Amino acid sequence: MRITRITVYRIDLPYVGGTYSWAKGKAVEVADSTIVRLDTDEGLTGWGEVCPLGAAYLPAYAAGARTGIGVLAPHLIGRDPTCIGALNRVMDWEMRGHAYVKSPLDIACWDILGKAAGLPVHSLLGGRQNDAMAMYRAVPQDTPEAMAAASEGFRAEGYRQIQLKVGGDPADDARRIRAVVEAVGPECVVLADGNTGWRRDEALQVANATRDLNYILEQPCESYADCLSVRRRARQPFKLDESLQSLEDLQRARQDDACDIASIKVGKHGGLTKARMLRDVCAANKLPMTVEDTWGGEIVTAALAHLAASTPPEVLLNTTDLHSYNTVHFAAGAPAVEDGCLTVGDAPGLGVEPIADLLGPPVAAYE
Ligand code: MG
Repeated sequence: MRITRITVYRIDLPYVGGTYSWAKGKAVEVADSTIVRLDTDEGLTGWGEVCPLGAAYLPAYAAGARTGIGVLAPHLIGRDPTCIGALNRVMDWEMRGHAYVKSPLDIACWDILGKAAGLPVHSLLGGRQNDAMAMYRAVPQDTPEAMAAASEGFRAEGYRQIQLKVGGDPADDARRIRAVVEAVGPECVVLADGNTGWRRDEALQVANATRDLNYILEQPCESYADCLSVRRRARQPFKLDESLQSLEDLQRARQDDACDIASIKVGKHGGLTKARMLRDVCAANKLPMTVEDTWGGEIVTAALAHLAASTPPEVLLNTTDLHSYNTVHFAAGAPAVEDGCLTVGDAPGLGVEPIADLLGPPVAAYE
C-alpha cells in the first residue's frame, strides 16, 4: 500500500462556553484545527487531526502545523502508511522536533492500518482494557463563585473529575480551589492546573493556603526545575503536563520523583505511536496518567479514546471528551459521552468519518 495524496483542511472550533481562559489571562475563543486526509493506492483513506490551544499554550501553533505538513508531505508520498514505525523514522529524520506537526500524519496512518486489518485502533494499541473511561471536565478561569457554579453544573452532568484553571493571582487562586473543592464534594477528583502561570513562591503560597483541601496540583511553573522545587515542598499530589513532552522528559521526571501523575497528550508527543510509547513507560512504572490532548474535534477525541481504552485501568486516572468543548462538529462516529464517561466503539480504524460539506474545501493538497 502506498500513500498517493495528502489533503489538508482547516476548521474553526468555537468553545461552547465563549472564552476559555487559563493562567495569567491567556485565552482562546476559537480553536484552529488542522485535519489531514491520507489517500492510498488501495482505496483506503485515513484521517488525522491536530489542534494546538492557540499559540501560547505549548510551543505549537496551527499555521505551523499546516506549514510543517507541507514540508513533510513530499517525503511521505509513495510510502506505506501501514509501516508506521518506518514512517515516523522518516518524519523524525526530515524534521527535527515539531512533534505536533507529525501527530495528524501518524494518527491517519493508524486509521488506515486499522481499516486494512479490519480492527479498531485500540486493538492495535494493545487491546481493549476499558469500556467506559472516566473523564475530567476543564473549568476555565473565572471568579471563585463562577467556577464553583460551573463545576457543580458539570458534576450534575455526570463528570466526577474537575480540572480548574488557576495560575493567576495566588490569593484568588486559593479562593478558586477552595470554592470548587467545597462545591463538588469529596467524591469528586479535583485538579488545579497552574498551566505554568506561577512563580515558585506563588505556587507555594497557593499550596500552603489550601493544605487542608484534597486536590491534585498540576504544572504550577514554567520550568521543570521550578516545578520540581514546588513538588518537593508542597503536600498535594502532583501532576506534570507541559514539562513532559518527550520520553527523555518522562524518564527524568521518574528518576527525580518529580510527579505522581503524568499527562499523556497525543499531539504534544507526536501522535499515537509516541504517545503509546510514553503510555507504556508510565504503565510499566505504575505511574498514573491522564490520556488527553491540547484541543481538537472528533478525530482527536477518537485517537485519545482508542489510546485510553487500551490503557491499563489501574493507571488511567482519566481521559477527556474534547469534542464536547466545541460548538462545531464535523464527523460522524465520534466516541460517546455518557454519565461522565467516554466510550469508543469497535469499528475498524478510528471509527470516525468526517462530513465533507462541513470540512469545506482543502487548504492544501500534495501528491
Ligand atoms: Mg494541564
